Amino acid sequence: ALRIEGLSKTFGQNTVLKNVDLAVRHGVVTCLLGPSGSGKSTLLRCMAFLEEHDAGIITVYGEPLGFAPKPGGGRLRLPHAQVVRVRRAIGMVFQQFNLWPHMTALGNVSEALKRVRGLSRREAEARAMSVLERVDLADRAHHYPSQLSGGQQQRVAIARALAMEPRIMLFDEPTSSLDPELTGEVLSVMRHLAQEGMTMVVVTHEIGFAAQVASDVAFLDKGEILLRGLAKDVFAKPWHPRLADFLETYL
Ligand code: ATP
Ligand code: MG
Repeated sequence: ALRIEGLSKTFGQNTVLKNVDLAVRHGVVTCLLGPSGSGKSTLLRCMAFLEEHDAGIITVYGEPLGFAPKPGGGRLRLPHAQVVRVRRAIGMVFQQFNLWPHMTALGNVSEALKRVRGLSRREAEARAMSVLERVDLADRAHHYPSQLSGGQQQRVAIARALAMEPRIMLFDEPTSSLDPELTGEVLSVMRHLAQEGMTMVVVTHEIGFAAQVASDVAFLDKGEILLRGLAKDVFAKPWHPRLADFLETYL
């Protein structure tokens, strides 16, 4: 579904991602694990082109995102309109829910449908409502974020991303700003999405969830992919000492 080849990203002097290769398979969940500061969020942001990579090529369902390889070496910056089109395949959910406080749940979910997709208010709200039903929040549609729990707010954020009908959903530690008793409802929505065959990349420290739901795992350390493989193999036998340390910290 999404392929990353030779991706590097530097902030000033700080090389945050080094020559990352990663293939995200269609229809399954890929979990991205790694210690704090290893570059997980930066990698996800590059996949959504919220951050421009300095080297390497990202392709989304075969189409280059942002840059295309130039025959004979180097790469070519693609026109903005093409970036926008390819990026439509990607939905993203952040640790901080980033909802608009002055809009209801329904407003948050329908806004981009009106402004970006050009749907009428009626069409946008109908679609938003059906997505809110999918995350079990139909009865909270007219509540403002301040009237919702953290778990409910995060489910609105998931609904907002889903409403745009992405082909790939990226989640950056979607439960780590929630109280423990609220993580379950968010993980459950994500589990349902996975069962429906949504292609997902999930950064999480919820190792139990990862072991249960992920098909593929990649472990990032200091900006490099230290290992990747099938979740069942990686969790059954975390042979790499850095991964074993990491798992011990979070289990
Ligand atoms: P965490 O688990 O704490 O969320 P992470 O694996 O997501 O960590 P990143 O947020 O990707 O890590 O950060 C990787 C490195 O890049 C860190 O050293 C961070 O300080 C640096 N970094 C991230 N974003 C920026 C930025 N916009 N400008 C400068 N440095 C940045
Ligand atoms: Mg992060």
